Amino acid sequence: MNINSLLIHGGIDGDETTGAVNVPIYQTSTYRQDGIGENRGWEYSRTGNPTRAALEKLIADLEQGESGLAFASGLAAIDTVLSLFKAGDKLVVSDNIYGGTFRILDKVFNKFGITYTIVNTSDLNKVEEAIDESVKAVYVESPANPLLTVTDIEAVAEIAHRKGKKVIVDNTFLTPYLQRPLTLGADIVIHSGTKYLGGHSDTIAGFVVVNDEKLAEELYFLQNSIGGVLAPWDSFLMIRGIKTLGVRMDRHNENAIAIAKWLQKSPYIKKVYYPGLESDPGYEIQKKQADGAGGMISFVLKDEYDYRKFFKSLKLITLAESLGGVESLVCHPASMTHAAIPEEIRHKVGIDDALIRFSVGIEDKDDLINDLKQAIEKSKR
Ligand SMILES: *Cc1c(COP(=O)(O)O)cnc(C)c1O
Repeated sequence: MNINSLLIHGGIDGDETTGAVNVPIYQTSTYRQDGIGENRGWEYSRTGNPTRAALEKLIADLEQGESGLAFASGLAAIDTVLSLFKAGDKLVVSDNIYGGTFRILDKVFNKFGITYTIVNTSDLNKVEEAIDESVKAVYVESPANPLLTVTDIEAVAEIAHRKGKKVIVDNTFLTPYLQRPLTLGADIVIHSGTKYLGGHSDTIAGFVVVNDEKLAEELYFLQNSIGGVLAPWDSFLMIRGIKTLGVRMDRHNENAIAIAKWLQKSPYIKKVYYPGLESDPGYEIQKKQADGAGGMISFVLKDEYDYRKFFKSLKLITLAESLGGVESLVCHPASMTHAAIPEEIRHKVGIDDALIRFSVGIEDKDDLINDLKQAIEKSKR
């Protein structure tokens, strides 16, 4: 089935018992057993729940993986994946990643002796150099958050596999509609379902997808042992959101390209980051490995504009954390999504204090451009 049909009919399509076209919400914690050791495939909802199972099958189908797992948040998914490692193991991590991913590595897993080294993974020589004996996996975001740096996933997988290491890709920014990392050689795909997959800024969720049976078993064991599972109701909301992923992503893409081009040729801009622009250093690789550049743009205004005033002057576009919803959101990474990253590291990787991250929604693009324009003009010092 083509992805546009899988989005609607993938996983478990409706309900066999009643013919309901939607998967029912099995709001139950436990299941009656017919005798000792005689159950109907379900025992306890942390271990398994039919609504969650339908969603897990759906995300596996979309990522062309064997096995999917749904979690209560993207970070619960990341927590479970990082729990595959043990004291003494090291991870090579993209130098601009989601702030919360940096925080859980730096403040939680570091305590247990799992260390990390930060590398610009778009530079393949640096990836190669960074992989020593203690490294067990390379953790990549592409395009990365918030500078939209593109990493060649296939090339990183080739290097890592040659050295016997795993590759983990956070695919939140593009979703399987635009990029399928397992088909590019990644071993583990992670998502914050909170963003484009859910798509309506109303649910926190996370996913892990793998292609390998043994890895799937290990992760399922950890999911059940750690317990950060997605609730039945939230699983239903994810299935519902995913049905419209294709049409939403097409519009996110279309709007983002128009806005990135407008920003680039406007007189207001010091720098625009968007891998869908031909001038972007990641353009060719993005084109090779994904079916679009997605809906995220970052930019820095010229010095004569005050970014604080800009945020305050927006009317249609909302200042908020998060991304990937139908509505346009802007954020200030230095004080919001990436505040957990120490200033020194932020500056080193190029996260300017004046950087603005824009999650382009599916509103009318002219309305969005007009709102940007009036807010920038009002922000003149
Ligand atoms: C939001 C986000 C996360 C964390 O997901 P939550 O659902 O907020 O826990 C991880 N990675 C990326 C790229 C994100 O944008």
